[in-house]
Amino acid sequence: MTRDGNKALLDHKADGRTVLLFGLTLVGDAALTTDYLWGVGCGWALESSAWLADEVGPVLTQPAPSAADVDRALQRYARRHHHELAAHHFFIADLAGGRMLNPLERLMFAAAAHDERLASNLAHYGGRVITPWQFLSPAKVARSLRVQTAASRATRATTAATR
Ligand SMILES: Cc1cc2nc3c(=O)[nH]c(=O)nc-3n(C[C@H](O)[C@H](O)[C@H](O)COP(=O)(O)OP(=O)(O)OC[C@H]3O[C@@H](n4cnc5c(N)ncnc54)[C@H](O)[C@@H]3O)c2cc1C
Repeated sequence: MTRDGNKALLDHKADGRTVLLFGLTLVGDAALTTDYLWGVGCGWALESSAWLADEVGPVLTQPAPSAADVDRALQRYARRHHHELAAHHFFIADLAGGRMLNPLERLMFAAAAHDERLASNLAHYGGRVITPWQFLSPAKVARSLRVQTAASRATRATTAATR
């Protein structure tokens, strides 16, 4: 994808479109279009449909659902959509501009190569099973610092021993 292509995606500000007026809502790409490099779009389309069904289904199967109940269900769906996807979308869109990894990202990715728990944390983040905030929790950042410091020391010691 070209930088211009990424820019077009970044310009596609769609994450505020989960709830519209008059009982109308959106799922999938219609609600949120994200850089497809990360392969999340199909999963998010299915998940957002499931969240909508979870919230609206029980209301619509009532004998006489009111419009207010339907709207409240749509609001719950919108909140869930935002909670689950907004931060992931933010970080994906931020990276789509072609910037370099920042020091925190470099630390988390490098440390994951030396530690099974951090590798699992990274895999869960990449699989969008956890939020970016869970991925970057203070405990995980502290562990990454410890692991990466130890790995750097070990590399320096090995280099010195082989001279
Ligand atoms: C090049 C590319 C590569 C991608 N790679 C991946 C990947 O590897 N993994 C991944 O998870 N996602 C990937 N995606 C994203 C993924 O394709 C989308 O996120 C996903 O298809 C969204 O599903 P959707 O049902 O919301 O929308 P769509 O799949 O776009 O479905 C919308 C449907 O509505 C139809 N439609 C539109 N207007 C009307 C109308 N007026 N009346 C009737 N029908 C209408 C369209 O024809 C279409 O069939 C990729 C996208 C692109 C463009």
